[in-house]
Amino acid sequence: MSASNHAAAFALPAVDADGRKNLVGLSRDELEAEMLSAGLEKFRARQLWHWIYHRGATDFAVMTTLAKPVREKLAETYAVARPTVVRDLKSVDGTRKWLLRMPDGQEVESVHIPEEDRGTLCVSSQVGCTLTCRFCHTGTQRLVRNLDASEIVAQVMLARDALGEWPAPPDGRMISNIVMMGMGEPLFNYENVAKALKIVMDGDGISISKRRITLSTSGVVPAMKRCGEELNVNLAVSLHAVTDELRDLIMPINRKYPLKELMDACRTYPGLNNARRITFEYVMLKGVNDSPADARALVKLLEGIPSKINLIPFNPWPGAPYERSTDRAIQVFGDIVNNAGYASPVRTTRGEDIMAACGQLKSASVRLSAADRAAIEKVLAEKDAALAG
Ligand code: SAH
Ligand code: SF4
Repeated sequence: MSASNHAAAFALPAVDADGRKNLVGLSRDELEAEMLSAGLEKFRARQLWHWIYHRGATDFAVMTTLAKPVREKLAETYAVARPTVVRDLKSVDGTRKWLLRMPDGQEVESVHIPEEDRGTLCVSSQVGCTLTCRFCHTGTQRLVRNLDASEIVAQVMLARDALGEWPAPPDGRMISNIVMMGMGEPLFNYENVAKALKIVMDGDGISISKRRITLSTSGVVPAMKRCGEELNVNLAVSLHAVTDELRDLIMPINRKYPLKELMDACRTYPGLNNARRITFEYVMLKGVNDSPADARALVKLLEGIPSKINLIPFNPWPGAPYERSTDRAIQVFGDIVNNAGYASPVRTTRGEDIMAACGQLKSASVRLSAADRAAIEKVLAEKDAALAG
């Protein structure tokens, strides 16, 4: 069994404590099928969709376009559930971070980053991550499971609840953009991520266009093609190194999908042009990948691919094996990249006071039972075997 399949084995039961089934996260077809199986008309699905995803309703009683007996019947069998908010932290710079607990007790974080003309929600795709990139704190959290589609969509819905964004205002939204850059590797949980993003993109609902959604991957080459063809959202690639030797060391996935394959997959990502580029993320690690020679090699590596470069100052965490590059090194690196035609490359760190930065999410230590640990050791061994094979 692959690591991602194994993680799926931990998936949530889709019913609440009262045995009611959660409707959030069902596709339109599934919602229709659900209505038919409950003895209701198919068109109820359309009505429900509007209430759930356009109006943000969580209580059937407010769904006034449905007759009262229908509402009562729905409430007996179904729920429109939200995860529990365990913590709600606000940074001095306006960044906000929610720690959410799922019904099985697992926790994930989402982060809202407001900017002048837009707002971005950073969404998690897994609890932890089966990959173990050496600079990333998520990779040290050994408890891993995939989030299901409802748990991914729920992060967006909960942020909208908190920011008072129902129904969606046509302009000036607080959540105008989504980035799949929270915990986890979204392309190791492709099915659930795709299902969730289709719900988020649906025009009679949350309605965030694919142009405003960016999926970040460490480079799961076969799934990149599928993602491009089926979702065609913007792609961000965590590159972080320009040679296989270094990338093998800091990002174990490179041993399975080395740079040449990764670059080929980028080059052929559907819909690329000068207005629609791949973002290459590059975390600046002191003395590791931050020399002028690295910068020049980076420019060369990206030749011919419509690209943007995002230099991310490393966010240190307790026990991290690396340090952040000096400001000077980042500037010199940035200048070389700029001179080659790549604009505004350094990402400013936001929400530092609430540990909301990349790679720091859910930083509190996780205590594991012996059984959990054994299960996770197995996942990791399978992942290592998959990467070696
Ligand atoms: N798994 C996906 C998406 C989540 S990580 C991926 O790796 O792309 C989001 C981004 O944060 C990635 O570019 C990741 O490499 C970067 N990142 C991880 N740890 C970091 C750290 N400590 N400092 C800065 N960036 C980090
Ligand atoms: Fe996973 Fe991305 Fe962190 Fe690597 S950088 S361990 S792929 S979350």
